[in-house]
Order: sequence, then structure tokens, then C-alpha cells
Amino acid sequence: MTKKINFTIAFLFIMVFCTIMGKTVAAAATPADVKLVINNEQVTADVMPFIQNDRTLVPARAVFEALGGTVNWDQSNYIVTIEYDGVIVILKINDTVATVNGRNKTLDVPATIKNGRTMIPVRFVAEELGFLVGWINSTRTVTITSSEKTDVRPVITGYVTEVSVEEGTSNKENTIVTVQMSEPLKAPEDYSTMNLTSPDRFVLDVKNFLVDSKVSGLTYDQKDSPLTAVRVSAYNENAVRIVCDLKEATTPTVSLSADGKTLTISFRTLSTYFNPMDDGKLVVMLDPGHGESTAGKRSPDGTLKEYEFNRTVANKMKNILEAQGIEVLLTVNDDSDPSLANRCESANNSDADIFVSIHANAFGNGKEWTTPKGWEIYHYQGSVLGNRLAAAISSSNFPEIGILNRGIKTGNLYVIKNTYIPAVLIEHGFFTNIEEVELLKSDEWRDKAAQYNAEGIMNFLNSYIE
Ligand SMILES: [Zn+2]
Repeated sequence: MTKKINFTIAFLFIMVFCTIMGKTVAAAATPADVKLVINNEQVTADVMPFIQNDRTLVPARAVFEALGGTVNWDQSNYIVTIEYDGVIVILKINDTVATVNGRNKTLDVPATIKNGRTMIPVRFVAEELGFLVGWINSTRTVTITSSEKTDVRPVITGYVTEVSVEEGTSNKENTIVTVQMSEPLKAPEDYSTMNLTSPDRFVLDVKNFLVDSKVSGLTYDQKDSPLTAVRVSAYNENAVRIVCDLKEATTPTVSLSADGKTLTISFRTLSTYFNPMDDGKLVVMLDPGHGESTAGKRSPDGTLKEYEFNRTVANKMKNILEAQGIEVLLTVNDDSDPSLANRCESANNSDADIFVSIHANAFGNGKEWTTPKGWEIYHYQGSVLGNRLAAAISSSNFPEIGILNRGIKTGNLYVIKNTYIPAVLIEHGFFTNIEEVELLKSDEWRDKAAQYNAEGIMNFLNSYIE
């Protein structure tokens, strides 16, 4: 079942009062008008821009005073003079010859008068004065941007035209927020995300976009969804900020459509409603860290390579879990060392319900034995399910595993941050500690570690199965 709730509201014909450089003008916008964006801010003037012979004409005074220029009107000679940063442009009404610092230039369309306002061809004048002029065709918007020599402002690309939310059909996509844009994002870097806490929020910023006046926020009320509301605002002069208010910290999947015009934010089911059996199977992804040729990652005496320990324990866990009917996937099946991004991609593109990364620890320069020792487990900060998985694995390991418990820790480690399922990373002891490395090399100890890890995983999964 998919419910689509559209939260845009009808555009209302309204009287708008806007302030341009300290001047207040009463203005009426009509839908047929050309919109006007000056230095990334949408502005309204009493006579709005219009198009004539493919050229956009704008009100001289409203536009160029807003940009910091000076505009003089010579009523007796029908001449308008615009000055900015040492450049003087002079236009005469109904005359296709203009002068720029005294030199004659020919216009396609002359300046004209409409409703008592002097309307001038914007591209010609603005570019002569050193401004950047853009055109957003879908929304009929002309953009004019100051370009300062040391700090060129980004030019607005388009509008966020719609924000909606719908109920998804799986654990991984419980709630889907869709952000629609009038134009494609120019580059993937034009959007960014972050998590905020107290209260928990997820933030998506879309750079170089404005928010359409029709777009409003929305609330969402589904008991198994982490989402409670979406707010949309102009974050600063050149970014739209979409804030998702959450019941708990969670990192959703964000994807950009092939045409670059739709951003999709997919939230997983609220942790208390986490259901790993929703697709009829339990799937665990194990991630044995590093590879045979990864630099360092070996004991000072060279008798233990971390990758070999990681793979052996992961394979032992795989056998134990599979014997219990659990499907096990590995991020790597040979001695190679896939990138961390590849490892996360494997998880994010799979049916896996949880992700467990297998490692052993190191301290010092790697050439000498050092004293730090013990077992520890990491989950991503704020991940409710990551914390529960870490707690389950930790409690099945201790005290049986027989080494120091350094505890449950939170961290920004890449693989636990960038996987969208509950994820942990286990550091099984230090191969730079002369005593602990002997445990790490021992097959019996590896069997124990694999057994306790598998039990912890099964305890965690069982707690979510009816
Ligand atoms: Zn490692």
C-alpha cells in the first residue's frame, strides 16, 4: 500500500510588499509575469519583467538599485543612465543605440516605458555592468547576480518545486521523502546531508536552488516511521534546507534520480518496529577487514596478518549462522581489499538486515610491541539499532572470551557510518600486544570468538522476531 500525500498548496494571488534596498514598493504578481531573482533572492517589483522579441525587459530602477547601482531618469530627454562600479550605461527610450562609457552599442530591443516605469533589456545592461544573468526556463525566472572579483557568487540553478512523503513497502524504505526540482542538480556535490541532535533531525541542503512559494512543510504520523515532520526553507541566499524531524537518530539513504531532478530520502523503520523477517529471511552481512597486501596490519614479528584473522573468524561465523538457517553474505570473498565505499555499497545494495565488520586492533608504530590490549565494539553514534546489536554481541562475548572488555564505543568509522542497516565493527584484541597476538593466532580462540559473535547476532535478531 502506498499513500501519497501531496503537501503543496494552491498558489494564491496575493499583494506582496517587498523591500528593495530600503525602499518599500507595493507590488502585484500575476502568474504570467517573469519572475525576478536578484542576488539569489526572489524579489517583486510593481511592474514585473516581461519578454519582448526574446529579450527580457526589467524595471531599471528596481533592479539596478537593488544591485547597488545608481539610476537616473532624464524626463525631458527620455534618457535613463545606469552607473555601477565605474561603468556608465545610457539608454534612450525607443532607441536601439545605447552608450557604454561613451561608446555606442546596438540593442536588439530598445528601452521602453510600461505603467510609468522605465523598462530596459536586462541582459545587455547587466552584462555591460559586470553582473551575471541567468534564465530558468521552466519557471520563467530571470536571475541577476553580482560578481565580485574575489568572490563569485553561485548562480541560482532552479527551484525546489515540491516536497512530498509516502509510505514505503519495506524495512529499508519505510518512509520516503521526495524532493522535486525544476532543473537538474548541476553536480552531485550540490546537495549535502547531515544529522543533528537534541532533537534528532536529518538535514538535506540543496545548493544554488530557491524554494518555490507553493512548497510548504508537512507533518507525518505513522507509528512505525521515524519521521514526524518535514520543514522546507531558504537556508541562506543560495541553498534550500529540508529538515526532517525524527523520533530517533537515523541515517536515511539519499539518492538522486538519473535526470538529476528528484532527490529521494528513504528512512528505515523506527527501531522499535525493526523487522528483519519482513522479507521472509534473515540476512547477515559480514565484512572481513583489509586484504593480503594492505600496508601495515600485521604483528611486529610478522607472524599474524590482520586480514587472515578477519577472514577466518568471518568464515567460522558464516558456518555457524548458516547452520541456524541464516543467510550470510561477505563483502569480500578473496584476499583482495575492496575500498570501504565498495564494502558499504555491497551492504546497501543487498537484502542484508545487519552488517558486522570483523577486525583486530593495533597500537603504536607497528614495529614494536605495545601494551594496549582488549576487545571493543563500535557502532555509529546515535544509531539505536547499532547500539543494541553491539550490546548483544558484547554480552554474549563477556566474560567468556577471556580478555579485557574495552566496551561499547561510538565512532565515525566509515563502514558503520555509511551502511544503512544496523552496523557494528568488532576489534577482537591487539595484534601489537605480545600476549594477545597469541590468542588471535589460536584456532580455539578464533572458534570461541566466532561462536560468541554468532550467538550475539542471533540473540539480537531473535529479539525482533515474533
Ligand atoms: Zn582492522
